[in-house]
Amino acid sequence: MGSIGRVGIVGAGLAGLAAARTLVAAGRDVVVFDREAVPGGRLTSLSLGEFTFDPGATSIAPFDAALGRVIQNELDTTDLVVIDKPVYLHDGFRTSPRGVTASSVKRFVYSHGIRRLPSLLSSGLDLRLGCRIDSFESHSDDSYSLEGESFDAIVIAIPSPIAMDLLFKSGDPRRLSNVKFRTCLSLCLGFETPLEPPYHALVGPDQTHPLSWLSVESAKCPGRAPDGQTALVAQMSAEYSLRRFDLDDDLIIEETLIDVSRLLGKGFSVPVVSKVVRFQYSHPETTATFESVNSPLSRVVIAGDGLMAGRTELAYETGTRAAHLLLDQS
Ligand SMILES: Cc1cc2nc3c(=O)[nH]c(=O)nc-3n(C[C@H](O)[C@H](O)[C@H](O)COP(=O)(O)OP(=O)(O)OC[C@H]3O[C@@H](n4cnc5c(N)ncnc54)[C@H](O)[C@@H]3O)c2cc1C
Repeated sequence: MGSIGRVGIVGAGLAGLAAARTLVAAGRDVVVFDREAVPGGRLTSLSLGEFTFDPGATSIAPFDAALGRVIQNELDTTDLVVIDKPVYLHDGFRTSPRGVTASSVKRFVYSHGIRRLPSLLSSGLDLRLGCRIDSFESHSDDSYSLEGESFDAIVIAIPSPIAMDLLFKSGDPRRLSNVKFRTCLSLCLGFETPLEPPYHALVGPDQTHPLSWLSVESAKCPGRAPDGQTALVAQMSAEYSLRRFDLDDDLIIEETLIDVSRLLGKGFSVPVVSKVVRFQYSHPETTATFESVNSPLSRVVIAGDGLMAGRTELAYETGTRAAHLLLDQS
């Protein structure tokens, strides 16, 4: 096989961006394709009026992983914020600081929205946005085509169920059928009522309550809501999200507000802004391993959190591993 000079990457989430940065740093010519208009995938931010929300990943932790080192040493840290309040537990009626072992983990976010991270990571990369890839072609000279462009290798860094379809349509025999993802409905809610809690987020009892994670965005970091007002992101449990996924936004919001106001008080029953964000593939419930789907000589390398776990720093790690697998062949 020839050397690897040009690599096409499908997916500009953290895994795809990690692969791209590593390959570019090693002198390779890289093009990243993403179906959306902005990079970042499940690291996304939304502004509604004067409120700013992170409906996908709400924070980045821990910071001793490779991603943390990149953030601190290689990227602009101007609006990077350390979240100084812990995570509390809720039981549907009360909040409690007890029983949350992860509450001591140091978490980070960007004040203008977590989407700032993929925006910084993708700076200088050759991105083809709004470009959905459904298949690739393999040629007898060991090259590959994506969108009519020729590459020596490909990295597929999209959620595993979509990757499985892409592989199948491209005639690649690898299957990722053991990787199952759950869905998540994430509600962005802005209120005129003030809230200054001792926590920045509440976690529900192990996916058994519909309100699985309630992030007080305005307590997480400054600038997320006008003074004296509150921005919340309510992430619903896997079971609730699956059952309600196709319902109208108004119905989902109405139901969720009952749970939110039960926990936080009557001032949280009527939002001034609201939006439902749907993640069909939110977190892997079961995963494959990087080695089980990629061989040391793979030129079509699979990455993404479905090979480790649904965490930003682990998605990033799969991307750097994919890049090194290709660099080791050159
Ligand atoms: C609601 C929610 C809350 C979360 N909370 C946290 C948290 O607090 N902390 C944490 O660490 N992690 C959290 N996560 C998990 C974290 O966001 C993911 O593990 C990580 O972002 C996955 O990165 P990825 O690159 O593997 O995939 P993605 O981010 O999904 O990126 C894949 C990219 O591929 C693109 N794409 C898909 N199909 C195609 C196609 N056919 N052609 C071209 N492009 C395509 C997508 O547009 C996307 O940009 C959360 C996730 C969700 C959904």
